[in-house]
Amino acid sequence: MNGIAYSNQNTRKNNSRQCKKNGRNAAPYITYSIRSIAKLYRISTQYITWPILPQRLPPHTVFKRSHTSRIQEVSHKPLADMLTHKLALNYGTPRLTKIQHELPTLMKINKKRLPAFIALLITITSIVPAQGRRPTAKEARTARPKLVLAIIVDQFRYDFLERFDDLFVEGGLRKLMNNGAFFTNANYDYVPTYTAPGHAAIFTGSTPALNGIVGNEWFDRETGKRRVMVSDPNARIVKSPAPEFEGAAEQASRAQSAPMAGSGGGVSPRSLIGSTIGDQLRLATSFTSKVITASFKDRSAILPGGKRPNGAFWFDAATGTFVSSDYYGKELPAWVNKFNSAVRPDKYFGAKWERLLPDSAYKRSQSSNLEVQRSGLGKQFPYTITGGADKPNARFYGAFESTPFALDYLADFARAAIEGESLGADGYPDLLSISFSATDLIGHAYGPDSQEVEDAYLRLDHTIEGLLNYIDKAVGLKNTIVFMTGDHGVSPVPEYLSSNGIDAGRVNAKEIVDSVNQALTARFGGSGWVQALVNDQIYLDKKIIAERKADPEEAEKTAGEASLKTPAIVNYYTRSQIVEGRMPPGPISRRVMNGFNRTRSGDVWLIAKPFYLMSEGVALGTTHHSAYGYDTHVPVILFGWGVRSGRYNFECSPSDIAPTLAALLRIEMPPNRTGRVLVEAIQ
Ligand SMILES: [Zn+2]
Repeated sequence: MNGIAYSNQNTRKNNSRQCKKNGRNAAPYITYSIRSIAKLYRISTQYITWPILPQRLPPHTVFKRSHTSRIQEVSHKPLADMLTHKLALNYGTPRLTKIQHELPTLMKINKKRLPAFIALLITITSIVPAQGRRPTAKEARTARPKLVLAIIVDQFRYDFLERFDDLFVEGGLRKLMNNGAFFTNANYDYVPTYTAPGHAAIFTGSTPALNGIVGNEWFDRETGKRRVMVSDPNARIVKSPAPEFEGAAEQASRAQSAPMAGSGGGVSPRSLIGSTIGDQLRLATSFTSKVITASFKDRSAILPGGKRPNGAFWFDAATGTFVSSDYYGKELPAWVNKFNSAVRPDKYFGAKWERLLPDSAYKRSQSSNLEVQRSGLGKQFPYTITGGADKPNARFYGAFESTPFALDYLADFARAAIEGESLGADGYPDLLSISFSATDLIGHAYGPDSQEVEDAYLRLDHTIEGLLNYIDKAVGLKNTIVFMTGDHGVSPVPEYLSSNGIDAGRVNAKEIVDSVNQALTARFGGSGWVQALVNDQIYLDKKIIAERKADPEEAEKTAGEASLKTPAIVNYYTRSQIVEGRMPPGPISRRVMNGFNRTRSGDVWLIAKPFYLMSEGVALGTTHHSAYGYDTHVPVILFGWGVRSGRYNFECSPSDIAPTLAALLRIEMPPNRTGRVLVEAIQ
């Protein structure tokens, strides 16, 4: 290994084997690259020196050359521990130049040279930037961070950061924007831009064509039914075994659940093809690194976790608790059960959601009370959060999900996860992903131009400030890579646009299905050609195509042409065209190809005009899933360990995050990745 080998059981096993071979005691040790550290400080002295602890090196400390001649091995546990911490913290980094086997000689010379070493150390330290020293590229090659914190914000359109910038506090979003690598022009390069594909793209570094996550749902030709992407008939939900939760599920089935939340039934990541960055991190460390994910939505915890996380947890509106799937384990960890019984959302029952800032701060947004908003929590501020219930129950929990209080609640859960799982506590990098869902639920109901969305982001800013402060205390921000992005953007509410003279509207999906069926019957006979219209794609019945001996491509074209009778539909792509690569150049074609999965996608992909929502049963509020900028453009920010800060305006994609993390962590990339390493962000 070219770098620090962290002291874990496997390393210890290997090391003790080597030590025994060399006739030494089986003491744990670390290894590190001599050459890279020497170059780092441009020192060409003759000796290995330890500026901090020259006298504390015990006589049996061993320095050893490896077969690569670049690696040294150091025995002696306290020293190994010290170096693991000191190197990772970038304080007291030992300056290393030439391999020495004779420790007594080394120590003698060291003592003589100690004043010079201290002087040099002071010089080195003084040229380091004042604001929290970060590792340089060469240090990064010899150390790893303790924690990767993924902050995903559901329905996080890029312009929110710019629109509310002057209202943010210093320690929250602005801290990430100003001190991180801030990518201002990141777009998802596929359709449909929904939650499940977004989370899959971020963590696989890939697109639906390869990772298989083609929507929140898809039409499963095997069963002939629409299917939720993370649903799994072989999996069961795992809940806290508390008696007070029993019967709550029954209550929930009577209550109307939140539109985008929990899919119900068993769920798992089995439909994800390939692996995530978390899986790769676990693979790279013999599954010693930990991966924990949490969200209010099941899909937003499951997909970031990949195939083999230590845990994935999401909010169950039936019980008001965090739950998981038996895919991950038969029981919830003790810390989750403790959180569920001790930190109930019930404390928010009856709470008032009022605007955080004075009136003037909200002039940039639409006042509420739009006729087209979904029922949500009500029509205008202040909102009293009860869900129409007289005590905390499933109806209340369903309403609670759509409030900024849920942002804080998830952050509380993240803190419990860091403590409960000891994340970032050892030399093995861990990954914690949290995905905030309330922003999406509020956005769907009130629209991106609403005061409700503005207020949700102002409150998210405080939530993130609190979380960053906590991480700084618990793990150290300088030991943590934080990245933040959104899983998709969102369209403005069409009626808001059209009332202001911008062409916008809603597409009647049933009208399209009817005209496609009519056209196919007229051309080939038979009936009931369209099995489903999901994710803007028409699924044709293969049996009827065979029965009527229709040419599949001709059937697809007939369907596409019929859909163009609806004025809002401006283009279509057929399955045959996509599979055979006969696509015209251009960004929309590319996004369709990247979103098309042979097994799961439909036969005719419809393209609506910008600002026209084909929302499949959603008649109010707004949504997202198009190939247009308002749905694809999200912030990408990397911050902390090993990250070079700056503002970067070139085109990139959230699929670039996983490859970039792989480069920072020095591990293998997820196999399906299509993204590139954002080298500009790496020190
Ligand atoms: Zn989403």
